[in-house]
Amino acid sequence: MPDLSALSGYPPELLRQVESLLSQPDGLSSRLLDRYPHAHGLRSDRQLYDFVEQVRARHLRSAGRIAKVVYDSKVQLAYQALGLHVRSTKVHGAQLKARHDIRIAALFRDAPLPFLSMIVVHELAHLRHPDHDRAFYQLCAHMEPDYHQIELDVRLYLTHLAAGGGPLWRAWPEGVPASSKAD
Ligand SMILES: [Zn+2]
Repeated sequence: MPDLSALSGYPPELLRQVESLLSQPDGLSSRLLDRYPHAHGLRSDRQLYDFVEQVRARHLRSAGRIAKVVYDSKVQLAYQALGLHVRSTKVHGAQLKARHDIRIAALFRDAPLPFLSMIVVHELAHLRHPDHDRAFYQLCAHMEPDYHQIELDVRLYLTHLAAGGGPLWRAWPEGVPASSKAD
């Protein structure tokens, strides 16, 4: 029996489809690669920070800048911990100032742009909504209209990895955006 724990809560028909894809060689991986052929190429923490700040400035301008954004290989691949939003409060004189850090699981460094966008939107939405409630998911879908489809595809990728499949988007430098190529 394949490990489908990343897909808990999805309908049984979908789980049967995934099982069937997993039973074929490259069934699930070719499905994912067809849909997402390229890695995003934002591999440094600096590039990641700029991307997160762009999304935040567009949708959550009043939330204030994020202090720090990093890829973190210690963030576990369990879905609940794919990203990690750290809110700390420091005393600055008489003022309480909230500081927001975001840690993104290293898995998303070599991944398609929609996957990165999904997890970034998820972590940014926590600036407004601490819990995974209806308002939280509405904000996610506002920032990334394909949020729910991409979340499912990220979970399918985790299922692929749990089944012993290798990383699908490490074919560096294929994912380098054309504009950043040396020539
Ligand atoms: Zn969350």
